[in-house]
Amino acid sequence: MRIIGHLDMDAFFASVEERERPYLKGQPIAVGSDPQGGKGRGVVSTANYPARAYGVRSATPISKAWELSEQARKEGKPPVVFITPHFRIYEAVSQAVMAIVAGHLKGTQTTLFTADPPALEQVSVDECYVDLSFAGSFKKAEEIAVRIKKEIAKKERLSCSIGIGPNKLIAKIASDFKKPDGLTVITEKEVLKFLEPMSVRKIPGIGPKAEEKLARVRVRTARDGRKLSEEKLRGMFGKWGKELFRKFWGEDDSPVVVEAPPAKSMGEQETLPEDSLNMKILFPYLERQAKNLVSYLTRDGFKAFRTVVLTVRFSDFETVSRSRTLQEPISCKSLTLTDGAELLRRNVTQMFFPFLDKRENPNKKKIRLLGVRIEKLS
Ligand SMILES: [Mg+2]
Repeated sequence: MRIIGHLDMDAFFASVEERERPYLKGQPIAVGSDPQGGKGRGVVSTANYPARAYGVRSATPISKAWELSEQARKEGKPPVVFITPHFRIYEAVSQAVMAIVAGHLKGTQTTLFTADPPALEQVSVDECYVDLSFAGSFKKAEEIAVRIKKEIAKKERLSCSIGIGPNKLIAKIASDFKKPDGLTVITEKEVLKFLEPMSVRKIPGIGPKAEEKLARVRVRTARDGRKLSEEKLRGMFGKWGKELFRKFWGEDDSPVVVEAPPAKSMGEQETLPEDSLNMKILFPYLERQAKNLVSYLTRDGFKAFRTVVLTVRFSDFETVSRSRTLQEPISCKSLTLTDGAELLRRNVTQMFFPFLDKRENPNKKKIRLLGVRIEKLS
């Protein structure tokens, strides 16, 4: 019998900030870019639950969040506290949380990357899947989840939500079912009933486009979805239709993948003060980011990088990333800092040129954010 758990930290960035600053307890918090009195141009990364009550959520434009906060203030409610993210702290907390989870898995390992690693798959900074099959029953698996939640609450003073199911799909949906501080267990027998009333958007992999397409054939819930045959779904969605068919029936046999530590990477990104398609304005951003990254690289004790990633967000928020892995790593040891930065800059600008013309930007959309990332550090 397979028993899979999915753990998701609650409003992670915002909760960490709240914990670091006790005077913020209970206040609405939005972690994201600087709102600049309503003129800011980034987005919210994470909002805590009091801020969500104002309508402020992940990906809400920061100017809109500011507006909502001002509105609340006028109604005599506390305004949102805006905080710019501290990724290094989140990364450190994330590692501590994952180590706690790993400590509760089979065996006595307390670190993540031992020769016989516990079946833990970290899928983002605040989310992981664990294979709890070793527990032998859903009851026992639930007890493990309770212990994990308790230890995270005690040692990290943070809450999380855990879902347990017979596969990753159900575990993931279950972890989202009772947030925050939730624990939802769905046994094999309960899967169909649990899924039945769910809006299709609750099913991982179904985004706004697929939702719209399904709505056109009057499919709004998993129950509706089950009325469609696999052939019909294939006709609508191509190869993915087969997967979707299985999702409606709660089936998923993808394994919990225990991976080597993720390739180290570092990146910078900036929202421009004003959307632009003028290379004289845009290039200095890329140049500065390239320079910063090479200096961070050396500061952090790395010598080289091999992959360059460019991220471009257009004025309509469409975001595109392009990456290039070089044949030879760019070494900043044999080169001076300036030469290393120059090589990176050259690569980045070459990757960027297509965004100025129809190759990557046929509608001549202006650009609102630029980011550069280097990966495969050594
Ligand atoms: Mg989360």
